[in-house]
Amino acid sequence: MASEFDIIRRYFTRTGKRALLGVGDDCALVAADKGTVLAVSTDMLVEGRHFFAGADAAKLGRKALAVNLSDLAAMGAAPRYATLALALPDADEAWLAQFSQGFFDMADAFGVELIGGDTTRGPRTISITVMGIVPPQLALRRDGATAGDEVWLSGCSGDAALALAHLGGRTRLGDAALAHCLARLHTPVPCVALGLALRGLASSAIDVSDGLLADVGHIAESSGVAIELRYAELPRSRALKGCADQSLVQECLLAGGDDYELAFTVSPDASGRVASVAADLGLTLTRVGSISAGEPGLVSVYDASGKLMQIANRGFDHFGS
Ligand code: ADP
Ligand code: MG
Repeated sequence: MASEFDIIRRYFTRTGKRALLGVGDDCALVAADKGTVLAVSTDMLVEGRHFFAGADAAKLGRKALAVNLSDLAAMGAAPRYATLALALPDADEAWLAQFSQGFFDMADAFGVELIGGDTTRGPRTISITVMGIVPPQLALRRDGATAGDEVWLSGCSGDAALALAHLGGRTRLGDAALAHCLARLHTPVPCVALGLALRGLASSAIDVSDGLLADVGHIAESSGVAIELRYAELPRSRALKGCADQSLVQECLLAGGDDYELAFTVSPDASGRVASVAADLGLTLTRVGSISAGEPGLVSVYDASGKLMQIANRGFDHFGS
């Protein structure tokens, strides 16, 4: 039976290049590059709440880090370090081998060093803290949007939620649509390059993890502005376009969650620069709305005829009703 220390040594210890001191001492020691600050963020995944019991361990390792890197992307930070706190019901070595492989695949893809963590017995829970660097004046905060700015979205929202709707029996997707949506749900890719490209360009940004409406609502609140979204202009994947249930489509697009796209605002004279970023990175970036001086924190959605839509499901809140 592997001990706690065997587990740490076997699965989570690697020699890093950047940290002054990594796994193995009481603390890791890291320095931020000159002219930058550390951007720090933690996200926790709990079995039964964020992932199903029996979920593919390699994909889980990838996703656990990806959702954290998504927060760095939304801040315009370059990823550097991560710590990993794990609660495990048992020392299942097959699970650990796959989980750590998935974790390090994602870490390698984005130049992240694992510098510490904690390992304990308990209901399966994964808590990761990521650290990135950004020049403080270029950080993409939530509070910088001003009236007249445009609201943009990378990729499209709703596919992960559509996968969940299929798994829950609410809709039946064809094979290709299901494969696409499951990939979006289980192997999200954080928009790190986009976050970096938006430095000095976006007036605010957030990653879409709890649903588009809820997340742009955070920009509206922090910035003290109102947001108007145009429903017909929201980008849709082929899978979502093929879905006949329009109330499900609306829920997925606006309140789905688990998308890990970036929503951001730019001043209207910067549209051309956004288009060049899209072309340079090979991404789809879509203008989906605008910022107004209306009621601070309010997000309104208008249909193609310009009519205000009534939205029942506005997004996910772990302690909401
Ligand atoms: P302490 O008793 O000081 O909390 P631990 O015995 O918990 O230290 O951990 C020993 C070392 O291994 C520390 O450097 C810690 O950061 C690291 N560590 C523990 N668990 C993990 C993990 N899951 N991933 C990476 N590093 C870990
Ligand atoms: Mg410890």
